[in-house]
Amino acid sequence: MITIDGSQGEGGGQMLRSSMALAVVTGTPVRLEKIRAGRAKPGLMRQHLTSVRAAAEVCDGELIGAEPGAQELTFHPGAVRPGDYHFSVGSAGSAMLVLQTALPPLLTASGPSTVVVEGGTHNQWAPPFDFLLKSYLPLINRMGPEVTARIERHGFYPAGGGRVVVDIQPAPFLNGFDLTSTGRVLNHRLIALVGNLPTEIGDREIARAVRKLNWRKEDGEVRGVRTNGPGNVLMAEIECEHVTAVFTTFGRQGTRAEHVADNLVKSIRGWQKTTAPVEEYLADQILLPLGLSAAQPADCGVRCGGTYLTGPLSQHTLTHIDILQRFLDISIVVNQRQGGQCELTVGSTSSG
Ligand code: ATP
Repeated sequence: MITIDGSQGEGGGQMLRSSMALAVVTGTPVRLEKIRAGRAKPGLMRQHLTSVRAAAEVCDGELIGAEPGAQELTFHPGAVRPGDYHFSVGSAGSAMLVLQTALPPLLTASGPSTVVVEGGTHNQWAPPFDFLLKSYLPLINRMGPEVTARIERHGFYPAGGGRVVVDIQPAPFLNGFDLTSTGRVLNHRLIALVGNLPTEIGDREIARAVRKLNWRKEDGEVRGVRTNGPGNVLMAEIECEHVTAVFTTFGRQGTRAEHVADNLVKSIRGWQKTTAPVEEYLADQILLPLGLSAAQPADCGVRCGGTYLTGPLSQHTLTHIDILQRFLDISIVVNQRQGGQCELTVGSTSSG
């Protein structure tokens, strides 16, 4: 059994979700202690609890101590079972984060699965649906599985009520990849989602962002969406030959639409400055599938592991590197390059 001290490193929910996903895939029992100990409200919140239960459900595993607010739990995974699953956060907590535990095991399951998740689809500090669709899943699909996702209802904080359906055609193994250049920029778009609020907010956000980015007016789109409560998010998708980068900022009561646009432009410029293909959030999230790829037997017939370039490493990425190496027989080598770039090479320990 592996014991994870949840107060170490970044100390948040991602450690918990990744540990659960890795426990399922590797069939390793895990004990999680001091769960989210450093957070203002420590222990399992609804989103974390749903994620933990999702991991247990996809493998019929045994969960001991997983209750609201719990700061420790024990998990004995069973065998991964493909099938139809429905996970509801039951609040506006991010439904997208629940996929971080349910999806990895189902990518290499013995048959197809459909996962329906309900809760928030566009939450601050979580991957928005558009990031999943445009940035994360294309890389997963490059690895062999065929995963499609559609949004049936948008859900913003605090009302929630979003619904996303994910269909998974698994692959026997995960093909590794290198992602060391963005390639040519093929397209760029701005999308302002406006739920139960005047669409003029989105118009102002787009107007400001296209002007600052020197993009065309037609590159922006305001989408009025029906939601349980008000919400506004401004996103940019930069589709490049080898990767699509998705940036997100949230509108908030009392924050001017122009300020929201300025924040988005700042994130885009930060990424462009590094000239590395993988932006901060994708950098921490692709580590897990790439780690699983690297841990496969060398004679499995596909490429195992790979290398990618990103900017300065976030606490999430650094913590993820530790967690992955606790569960998998892999090495993750970080090379600092000029201009703040970091090169991460994920490989099996036998190949160095
Ligand atoms: P806690 O409440 O304990 O901080 P949490 O469960 O809400 O934790 P984190 O541990 O902070 O979540 O993990 C957040 C996840 O959301 C990470 O995988 C991070 O990469 C991802 N994420 C955050 N913001 C974005 C964004 N704008 N785009 C894509 N992914 C994001």
